Amino acid sequence: MSLNFDSFSSFDKPDHVRIAKFFHDWARNVRLIASGLVPAYSYRKFSLVFLPLGHGIGKFERVFIFSTWLNNMFLYPRVYYIHVDNTMNNRQAKGEIIAHSPDQITRINSQYYRVKSQSSDKAYNVTALESGWYCTCPDHIYRHVCCKHIHAVEFSIKLRKEVRKQNQVIIEPITYDKCPDCKSSNFVKHGIRHNKNYDLQRYFCHDCSKWFSFNLGFSGIKANPKVVTSAMQLYFTGESLRNVQKFLRLQGVEVSHQTIYNWINKYTGLMQKYLDKITPQVSDTWRADEVFIKVKGNMKYLFALMDDESRFLIAQEVADTKYSHDASSLFRKAKEVAQKKPEVMITDGLMSYHNAYLQEFRTMQAPRTIHIRNITLKGEKNNNKMERINGEIRDREKVTRGLKKNNSPLISGYQIYHNYVRPHMSLDNQTPADRAGIIIKGNDKWRTLIENASLE
Ligand SMILES: [Zn+2]
Ligand SMILES: [Zn+2]
Repeated sequence: MSLNFDSFSSFDKPDHVRIAKFFHDWARNVRLIASGLVPAYSYRKFSLVFLPLGHGIGKFERVFIFSTWLNNMFLYPRVYYIHVDNTMNNRQAKGEIIAHSPDQITRINSQYYRVKSQSSDKAYNVTALESGWYCTCPDHIYRHVCCKHIHAVEFSIKLRKEVRKQNQVIIEPITYDKCPDCKSSNFVKHGIRHNKNYDLQRYFCHDCSKWFSFNLGFSGIKANPKVVTSAMQLYFTGESLRNVQKFLRLQGVEVSHQTIYNWINKYTGLMQKYLDKITPQVSDTWRADEVFIKVKGNMKYLFALMDDESRFLIAQEVADTKYSHDASSLFRKAKEVAQKKPEVMITDGLMSYHNAYLQEFRTMQAPRTIHIRNITLKGEKNNNKMERINGEIRDREKVTRGLKKNNSPLISGYQIYHNYVRPHMSLDNQTPADRAGIIIKGNDKWRTLIENASLE
């Protein structure tokens, strides 16, 4: 911290500022709102120093000094503004240390953190309000300053972003500039193969004398890759198989709805196997919910577990009943996918979540998982969040209406669509995977995924 001062007084004496500053700091340290009498012998006057704690305005800390001469007893009020260089102040430095220490900050959600006190067993709530961060510690409440806990939260948000960026996985579309056999680029277009629904360009390689076409992942399919991925896109946005079939017919592609189902089945399995090897970098706050669906006319429940920050759907499962279902396998699956346990698990009041939490997440040693049931928080925009989740459930219902059995590929297909393909308005039009550090490039993300999965 560096000090220089701006003052509106003609009686600027560095001594005043230094003395005032001393008391100011001392009073802060003992957490007192204090005033004091400061003798300033060198100028034959006394200064009554008022220390208005917590009246810093931005970069300025304000100190009132009333000075008087011994001989005429006049009282001259002075206001000194001590300029604090905020590039790295004390609280910021302490905040950074907290952010780097393990188990000091618990992220409940994007608007609510718990930060351990550095001097007691307590923990303070740091909440995002319309006006900015709010902390329940005395430093923030009485001095209205950006306390070390708030700095710690800000640092930890920055740190998490950096870590995610370092561990980012980028999946690029396959570029077709080499012969698949000898990797030479010395090839030419050589005829077209006519299929029932589309034509495929063939190439001839001058180096190895072989014919080939670029059709990675789609050979043996009765439609071109674009048609297949469009069908998947339509289906997962909520169209029925028969509507997808009608749409393809308009494009001149004649396939049965069973064929479309088979495509979805085949490619979902292929992509799932490939994506299972990549660990999403989800946050430490997870949410679980369940939604009623119909499978072959029977009532079922779809249980889903989602990362609160990225909205990445970590695990899903279908259950016959809501109240007697054991959610432990859902929690266990989520642990495997994310390679960790959450710090905070948010659910509704359903008993099976509590049992699953006890079985899968609760431990005696730190870091421990907190289970929050039916969270309501001051300042949290609960309703918006619930509305978004409900909207998503409605989408999910449309897709799962066509379920034939419990472990249908359609469930994991919807999960891929949700996580990797669909941009979310609440994520600034990014996908949950973008937020969780898995970036799929290309205009057709289905195709990028299928091609890369076929290379394995
Ligand atoms: Zn604080
Ligand atoms: Zn070749």
